Amino acid sequence: MAPPRGKKRKTSAADASLDESLAANEIEVEHGKIWFEDGSTVLIAEGKGFKVYQGILSQHSEVFRDMFTLPQPPEAETCEGCPIVHMQDTAEDLLCFLTALHDSTSRYFDKDHILTFIEVSAMLRLGSKYQVERIRAEAVRRLELCFPDDLDSFCTTGSDSFIYCAPDFPYFYEPSRTTVSLTLDDCKAVINLARAHDLNNLLPAAFYSCTLIATEELVLQKHKKIIGGTSWVLSDEDAVLCIELKSWFKVALRINIAASFVSVGDDYCQFPDSCQESKSRMLERLFGKDLGGLALLDSYSLTYAPISTEFCHLCTEECKQIYSEKRQAVWEKLHEYFAAPAGSARLPRADE
Ligand SMILES: [Zn+2]
Repeated sequence: MAPPRGKKRKTSAADASLDESLAANEIEVEHGKIWFEDGSTVLIAEGKGFKVYQGILSQHSEVFRDMFTLPQPPEAETCEGCPIVHMQDTAEDLLCFLTALHDSTSRYFDKDHILTFIEVSAMLRLGSKYQVERIRAEAVRRLELCFPDDLDSFCTTGSDSFIYCAPDFPYFYEPSRTTVSLTLDDCKAVINLARAHDLNNLLPAAFYSCTLIATEELVLQKHKKIIGGTSWVLSDEDAVLCIELKSWFKVALRINIAASFVSVGDDYCQFPDSCQESKSRMLERLFGKDLGGLALLDSYSLTYAPISTEFCHLCTEECKQIYSEKRQAVWEKLHEYFAAPAGSARLPRADE
């Protein structure tokens, strides 16, 4: 735009003064991993600078667009002549967000690349904070694959034993099926993220997973961990809910196994006398065992050695079928509970 009529261009002396002023405001900053020499703005987080393009940030994020429309005071700091924005995020989170933003071919959008949970958490948090839907949606997509709505996707024969056998194993699922390297302990943080970002559909599977964590690790502050903006400590209410769910699942597990045993020995049985005898023996064994270490939704639990099925082939198949239906019923009850408006639902009794 042309200068208003009558207004003279600054004199060269004034230009010199302005240059001196700019130079006085110029700061040096440690270069982060993203530093485009022709970038137009420098974002600084935890003392690390990222020189990026204002136009790209504005194009994808309304939050940045608004930020860049704010007038800069004359004494505002600059870096290599570019305006500076001091960010509240961690440098690690910001690097992840900016890489995803500037490079659509990066591993963050490669469906075959397994991301760390910290990376996915940063994508969800910063994608939401700066309103970049593409980044947020990719994080949600990955988490939904780990915490799906349907039981068959959540527990498969190949994956379910990983859930509780190896709490520190970096893959919550088999590596070939996962999209996030996620330990069982990370499921606490998933609950907190789901609560904070209105992802209630993740809660049933995430809470179920948390019931497989030792109670001490669910409630004691010494297990508190915060990385970036993500907390690994449950709220008091969610810790209580986890403990109540543990109790429900423990009873439901025994009821489900008993129901599947009771179902056998009907008309189709090949060896009725033998199967009836096995049924009595196994029910007696079932009620004399502590099943605490078994996972309710794990199909493996039915074949747990001390109570493993000893029926004819047809009864064994029937037993598995009933057990599968019972697992499905628990899964649905769990979803109904979390689908109800907050505070309005009560946990069902295990025998309902
Ligand atoms: Zn039989």
